[in-house]
Amino acid sequence: MYQLISKNLEQVRVQIAEAAAVVSRNPKDVKLVVVTKGHPIEAVEAALEAGVRVFGENYAEEGLSKILACSEWAGVEWHMIGHIQSRKARIVAANYDWVHSLDSLKLARRLDRVAGEVGRQLPVLLECNVSGEESKFGFHAWEEEAWPIFFEQVSQLLELRNLQIRGLMTMAPFLSNPEQSRPYFQLLWRLRNRLAQRFAHLDWRELSMGMSTDFQIAIQEGATQVRIGTAIMGPRTKL
Ligand SMILES: *Cc1c(COP(=O)(O)O)cnc(C)c1O
Repeated sequence: MYQLISKNLEQVRVQIAEAAAVVSRNPKDVKLVVVTKGHPIEAVEAALEAGVRVFGENYAEEGLSKILACSEWAGVEWHMIGHIQSRKARIVAANYDWVHSLDSLKLARRLDRVAGEVGRQLPVLLECNVSGEESKFGFHAWEEEAWPIFFEQVSQLLELRNLQIRGLMTMAPFLSNPEQSRPYFQLLWRLRNRLAQRFAHLDWRELSMGMSTDFQIAIQEGATQVRIGTAIMGPRTKL
């Protein structure tokens, strides 16, 4: 397992560097979040041995068991990237280092409250639905006419003192050709630039976009964090 993960990791790092080079970006400005959902703790340990220090998980409790199992390792970051049910907000606020999937005001208020209770400040990305697919979570962002409503919601988020907005996150639709994801990433980039004008005192630096099939396109379109599972960890097994 170690050898496969280590080889995949090396290959993905080369591909990140290639994609960055296309648009003259520094590959160091792209954080690789290795998504371990659906993989057992042994696989996470193999990834740690291969040098991974940044992990993404979709389910609060599945991730928590891994966070606890790997607590001996120094300098490890855990990113929550999946939809968070209200009753799991406390687990997330108390144990994760980043939230990519802040997808509603209601969740934001709850996360802010529980983060306060456990005495933590949580860096968050606002998840945006840029495709209009009903199956996707996120703020309504696929048509520019809806952006003013989103901006209004962002104004309300500003009052939540335990959440630190750092940027946006999205998932492109599942498409056969990764090139087809490009317009969705471009839309997120434009939206981010508008937010940075409108809320200039905030930090909108981070764009979390790109997964195993389309991360090279996402990097060309400005991704600062890519969330990669299968291409590094292999196919997901049932736990
Ligand atoms: C599972 C998942 C990923 C990783 O997907 P792969 O295709 O395995 O790279 C990235 N982001 C989110 C939100 C996910 O749920």
